[in-house]
Amino acid sequence: MQEINLTDITIDPVALAVFSEKGIECNMLRLDKLHPVISGNKWFKLRYYIEEAKKAGKIKLLTFGGAWSNHIAATAAAGQLYGLHCTGIIRGEEPAHLSNTLTTARQMGMELVFVSREDFRHKKIPGQFSDRSYYIINEGGYGQTGANGAATITEHFKKENYTHICCAVGTGTMMAGLINNTDDRQQVTGISVLKNNYDGIAAVQSLLINKDIQPAIIHDYHFGGYAKHTPALLEFMNSFYQQTGIPTDFVYTAKLCYAIASLAEKNYFPEHSRLLLIHSGGLQGNSSLPKGTLIF
Ligand SMILES: *Cc1c(COP(=O)(O)O)cnc(C)c1O
Repeated sequence: MQEINLTDITIDPVALAVFSEKGIECNMLRLDKLHPVISGNKWFKLRYYIEEAKKAGKIKLLTFGGAWSNHIAATAAAGQLYGLHCTGIIRGEEPAHLSNTLTTARQMGMELVFVSREDFRHKKIPGQFSDRSYYIINEGGYGQTGANGAATITEHFKKENYTHICCAVGTGTMMAGLINNTDDRQQVTGISVLKNNYDGIAAVQSLLINKDIQPAIIHDYHFGGYAKHTPALLEFMNSFYQQTGIPTDFVYTAKLCYAIASLAEKNYFPEHSRLLLIHSGGLQGNSSLPKGTLIF
């Protein structure tokens, strides 16, 4: 099992014409390079949960996710790496063919337990897993401990170099962590990947140290909703890769990059802004796309 290598994180230029036309500098923090499976923000969100579990003497982790969940894949890999038994409560009946994500998770020793969508929605844990020997992590790693871990993402760049830190928003845990560990010289801009998820603002806010901060979440770039995509988005991913050499995933980081380029075009960012986009990983999820869709 490959170790986590924090030194593999780089900051790469995002050289799109729109940024130079608007007098904006744009770079990307490549958390996707951390590890092939525990990629991106998921390791940061998990790190203190794992520490807490170990401190509490627990050797079993239990968490929740869908068939293509990056969080499930990352938890399985982290469990293997740190010697913890993992159980994944998976939304929906067991399919005839497991998704790549779930196949990988099972190969890494995660026990998969399929529950109905109804039970999943109510976070119902089947009886045999409900004893206190399990350390439970929320779906997507949402929570204060996750946000505290995500806050350590900011140790990998010089804050003063940037005016805007931009990230994709799912549960909002990463965004909260970024806000908690930056100050008012950096505006954290979140791009929601869920459709009309206006509750996301409250979800982020409840994890903030300073509750007076109003998280800046933009809701116009979900492309139809969570894990939905359009031909325009897929085309953008290929062209973005051609121009920058940076691969993105269609669920999170492609929507982030598309949004930031589009917002720059619309003069959302003042001239001389210095943007840092967080590449939060998720590339494993691209394997759900038909072969040949992407050029990387
Ligand atoms: C999970 C995930 C996110 C969303 O992070 P939240 O903390 O849930 O908002 C963003 N990008 C990638 C690649 C992810 O896997």
